[in-house]
Amino acid sequence: MRVAVYSTKPWDEEYLTEANTDHELHFLEPKLDLTTVSLAGGADAVCVFVNDDVSRPVIERLCELGVRTVALRSAGFNHVDIKAAEECGMTVVRVPAYSPHAVAEHTVGLMIALNRRIHRAHNRVRDGDFRLVGLMGVDMVDKTAGIIGTGKIGQITGGILQGFGMEVIAYDPYPSDAVRDMGIEYVDLSELFARSHAISLHCPLTPETHHIIDGPAIAQMELSPMVVNTSRGALIDTVAAIDGLKAGTIGALALDVYEEEGDLFFEDLSDTVIQDDVFARLQTFPNVLVTGHQAFFTREAVQQISAVTIANLDALARGTSSGTEVTSQLVG
Ligand code: NAD
Repeated sequence: MRVAVYSTKPWDEEYLTEANTDHELHFLEPKLDLTTVSLAGGADAVCVFVNDDVSRPVIERLCELGVRTVALRSAGFNHVDIKAAEECGMTVVRVPAYSPHAVAEHTVGLMIALNRRIHRAHNRVRDGDFRLVGLMGVDMVDKTAGIIGTGKIGQITGGILQGFGMEVIAYDPYPSDAVRDMGIEYVDLSELFARSHAISLHCPLTPETHHIIDGPAIAQMELSPMVVNTSRGALIDTVAAIDGLKAGTIGALALDVYEEEGDLFFEDLSDTVIQDDVFARLQTFPNVLVTGHQAFFTREAVQQISAVTIANLDALARGTSSGTEVTSQLVG
């Protein structure tokens, strides 16, 4: 297949080239959107990442250009208009799982860094400031962690936190026996908000989960918990979270994803003025830690993403199912 690979970073080119069978891969740096869609002219497929724009107008233009496949280098597909793709007869394939450990381990890394102020301590020590004031954390042992979404990543995160001696409780509309067998108790969302010292989000972004952490949810948090989001930015109403941080209802906030990250993440903006005032406000809190959508970013995960992407393209080129097709039934 002729494939236009959008949002190419050096590691995409390296690992996709290594995994490639006989596809003609055209590596493009720009994100896919209405202004760059014409670069896919002559391609059979586009290969995209999490912040590419795969909305209806872009899909309709891709269709006119003869593109018949969208190969996602991600598990999440909230940025793709699946109905529009189906109407155009386009197949959307994804990478359903690639090292859920990578994301779970980053999640716990953020928790520890934020709890023990490691990010602040690092800066201080480099500046020759060895004071401890402001760096006090809390023991994680015997505290309660609330996991929202107990799929692959949530389950591993819960297991790691149990290893710290934490009590883990969870909310998921589709509870799993395997998770119960780990000793994780399912509760409803209100109880999870009330009982948790740390809350970690591991559910997909859907209309039901959009702003699952909003003002009313934050108002139910009784223990001033740390809130961690390594899933998708729009699970949290960021303005409500800022209010919660100011009021102390949220004790600390760790984000690997952000509602409006599409205009920020994955680029070097160090020489520009950030126009997003909500994001800029987040940066002013001593108890907020943000990474730029890097939870997935381990060698194993990137290798797996590339291998599955090429296997998806191989299957579609043969005219068979890849088993990773995203359909409107899956979207619900
Ligand atoms: P998964 O499909 O294995 O698990 C998702 C779980 O969420 C399922 O158990 C599902 O029942 C549950 N769920 C669905 N609706 C829910 C709701 N309303 N409330 C609570 N739970 C709900 O997915 P996964 O592999 O564990 O990935 C979870 C999310 O992590 C993905 O959707 C993606 O957004 C995110 N992710 C982020 C990165 C990153 O680099 N930051 C990388 C990979 C995945």
